[in-house]
Amino acid sequence: MRRTIVAGNWKMNASKESVNKLILGILSGMSEVSSEVVVCAPFPYLSQVEGLIADSQVRLGAQNLNTNSSGAFTGEVSADMIKDFGARHVIVGHSERRSLYGESSSMVAEKVKAALDNDLTPLLCVGESLEQREAGETETVVAEQINAVIDLVGIEAFRNIIIAYEPVWAIGTGKTASPEQAQAAHLSIRDLLGESDKNIAQGTPILYGGSMNAGNAKNLISCADIDGGLIGGAALKAEDFLQICKAG
Ligand code: PEP
Repeated sequence: MRRTIVAGNWKMNASKESVNKLILGILSGMSEVSSEVVVCAPFPYLSQVEGLIADSQVRLGAQNLNTNSSGAFTGEVSADMIKDFGARHVIVGHSERRSLYGESSSMVAEKVKAALDNDLTPLLCVGESLEQREAGETETVVAEQINAVIDLVGIEAFRNIIIAYEPVWAIGTGKTASPEQAQAAHLSIRDLLGESDKNIAQGTPILYGGSMNAGNAKNLISCADIDGGLIGGAALKAEDFLQICKAG
């Protein structure tokens, strides 16, 4: 039985005041939540969130990491630094990082490895653009993104990896994939993992991301191969985020 996970990706949206309000709001409703909940905060706010969520069931994640452990990498942040603030998860390969910062599938695989080597759980994001979907390339694109990781870290490593299927055309656009579209993509990802190891395929959490909100979360998360959500916009409002957490 796979666990349900709901993770919030705040992206570059936070202030000390908004973080306080958001976390206190989330904590106020957590007694009714059975899903595993992770909030992925921008680096400067990790310490603040760490303090606020202490002794709660909310977990902390970061949104990116550098593959090096320390040194002359101005502006970068290592896995050890992330862990220093109590974070246990890190988003890797988000489509915004792939498209805006040129992260290739092999770079993403290296980041997954760096996270795993340092006992951080990577939330590995994969997904196709609208053009690729319309060209019938969804499965090929997603397979290339996942195979790059399997080739580097091996299938066994997926015992400690969470996958997030995030169709690029659905991220931040309000155009959610239908439960049928999302379920089909999730099943193809599970089948792909199953080609290497059936047990691991069955055990790997695959989250859906892309305009998931309080209104559509239940229909998506109730699909057989959708194990929760990676939430952008709706993760910035405690009430909406809690509704999604409760849908799991
Ligand atoms: C995301 O950025 O991972 C995401 C899913 O964003 P949104 O929910 O806003 O589409």
